[in-house]
Amino acid sequence: MKVFVGDLSKHPGMSLDLVLNYQKEKIYFGRDEIKLLKPVEVELTAKNIGRTLLFQGKVHAKVELSCSRCLEKFSFKIKAPYQEEFFLLRREDQEETAGVILETARPYRGKFIDLTDTVIETILLGMPMKALCDENCMGFCNICGVDLNKENCNCRESELDPRLSVLSSFFKNNGSN
Ligand SMILES: [Zn+2]
Ligand SMILES: [Zn+2]
Repeated sequence: MKVFVGDLSKHPGMSLDLVLNYQKEKIYFGRDEIKLLKPVEVELTAKNIGRTLLFQGKVHAKVELSCSRCLEKFSFKIKAPYQEEFFLLRREDQEETAGVILETARPYRGKFIDLTDTVIETILLGMPMKALCDENCMGFCNICGVDLNKENCNCRESELDPRLSVLSSFFKNNGSN
């Protein structure tokens, strides 16, 4: 996802509207592979705001996740805000000037900025903290292992609430005195 910024970087105040696509089939989150169910679409406005170029917009993605309770795969739509500042690293830049700008902006050289890494980071930030096929997913029975979304079992009825079982052993102990 390379963007030509040759003109933009020369004209303070200028802005560009961009629509980009990322056609890969998967991205990586550490060692985990995340399947992209359709091309990632990126809508951005790039603006020359002086020493830096500000890119702002949205990233739309559709990923395949596995439910953390029942392990079923499901699709999840991500619409995440994108904002990054880039600054042209020139040879004549003093180290201190560059250092100050680098705290908020990412450096680039030449006439192109590659947005791939920052777009992938944006997708990862838009992922749910906990992947659930449905908020009410019941997952597996932790006693007999059936998928409780598809089958019923009788384990729960005989299972005591752990708080109650503490109480019941409390009464048992006191009763024996
Ligand atoms: Zn589930
Ligand atoms: Zn069960």
